[in-house]
Amino acid sequence: MSEVLEQLVELSRYLGAPSRGYAILGEGNTSARLDNDTFFIKASGTTLATIDHTGFVAVRISVVLELLDAPDAGDEDVTRVLREALVDSQEKRRPSVETMLHAILLRVPEYRFVGHTHPVYTNALLCSKVAEEAVSGRIFPDHIVSMGHKSVYVPYVDPGLPLAREVKRRFEHFVEEEGVLPKAILMQSHGLITMGELPKAVTSCTDMAEKVSQILVGTYALGGPRFLDAKDVQRIFTRPDEHYRLKSIAG
Ligand SMILES: [Zn+2]
Repeated sequence: MSEVLEQLVELSRYLGAPSRGYAILGEGNTSARLDNDTFFIKASGTTLATIDHTGFVAVRISVVLELLDAPDAGDEDVTRVLREALVDSQEKRRPSVETMLHAILLRVPEYRFVGHTHPVYTNALLCSKVAEEAVSGRIFPDHIVSMGHKSVYVPYVDPGLPLAREVKRRFEHFVEEEGVLPKAILMQSHGLITMGELPKAVTSCTDMAEKVSQILVGTYALGGPRFLDAKDVQRIFTRPDEHYRLKSIAG
């Protein structure tokens, strides 16, 4: 088994462990980039908690992204394109519809691993009336260290192609506005995506998102969270010297 696949299996089982409450049954998915245009993604119908190397399929980033950029493409094209994106044309298993969310992120050279989960407390916030406010602020220094100064927030849209397009749009807007790469994406009435160079970045950010969410749920019972001031957040957040720009996959 290749090293990256081994790391991906370990990451998946960590995120799927029942005690953590991040994903049950077929919920959640994980991925890892192999080379510029290929990544492993959890196959449809597998379970994170018990997955092994046979639970992943290899797909092409460029083929998946073409679908997102095709203005006339609809949900009926998704199944066909996800099949065409498989590296092994004989592959019988299907990659998840959420493969599109992973392709958007894995085209960024700085991300090599992505974890998508539906954690209990994070979703308590994301399924609440205060979702956007709750996940937009920062509440203590380690929150900033693990999750950055800000996360990408995505309001509810139909799952499938509309969601993938909205995540792509909001992610690109964040990078353009902030000049840095985000560590987490929070999708209203759905769940969390974390990404990084190493599996540890994905697990740390997911762990912190869930701990922060549990605390936030508590603060809403006590009159509401006291978010840190922007200047206090900036003092802790180490902004890289260079403004980050998204490069096209061709470039
Ligand atoms: Zn999901």
